[in-house]
Amino acid sequence: MIRAVLFDLDDTLVDHRDATRAALAGVRARFPAFAAMPLDELAAANQRILEALHTDVALGRTTATDARIERYRRLFAAAGQPDGRAGAAAELHRRTYVAARRRVDGALELVTALRAHVRVAVVTNNTVAEQREKLASFGFAPEIDALVTSEEVGVAKPDARIFNAALARVECDAAAAVMVGDSWHHDVLGAVAAGLRAVWFNRHGGAHPDPFIAPQIESFTPTETVAAALLAASRGRPAAL
Ligand SMILES: [Mg+2]
Repeated sequence: MIRAVLFDLDDTLVDHRDATRAALAGVRARFPAFAAMPLDELAAANQRILEALHTDVALGRTTATDARIERYRRLFAAAGQPDGRAGAAAELHRRTYVAARRRVDGALELVTALRAHVRVAVVTNNTVAEQREKLASFGFAPEIDALVTSEEVGVAKPDARIFNAALARVECDAAAAVMVGDSWHHDVLGAVAAGLRAVWFNRHGGAHPDPFIAPQIESFTPTETVAAALLAASRGRPAAL
């Protein structure tokens, strides 16, 4: 019987990918250095650099603001203009990103419906301040029993210790918990290795790596159907989701 549901935050409860793309498009329109770079190419370069820098942010070794400026230094260099105005571009990126970000459809309704039956935690590779602000801005804060961040725990998903920390916070055994997230590597494989069940949130229609490891859901609606499926999630075989 499931007694706790753990959610990833970025691109699971709150959109990150589309907001990032909007921010990059805004920067590209304002800074001529990026005009010759197709948006897809800029997005790919941004993602590569973000992944390289994110561990330091997730573990609290640098601030998100400093990492964003460093990312733009590298993006300007990639665009052939190493002396570009990284600080100004990073600031425009952040402003556009915040204005563009949206709650994932059905996410709040699903969390609220689940919380009538189980405890709900958010397990995320980011800082406490950043994620607390996101949960508050999008109405999740009163519906969440625990926010567990990599910054606070000192390790990031897929490390089992962050899942164990979340289980301790909601006082639940791994066998009675299910993790829901969009990253196969961080969320699904990490949770399964820690002894939890997992459900892959495949919102963008990606190829399912292995239905025998975890079933997938493509949408959080209709709420009652998805909630019932998560509460019935079984281990080691594809659930009928
Ligand atoms: Mg995610």
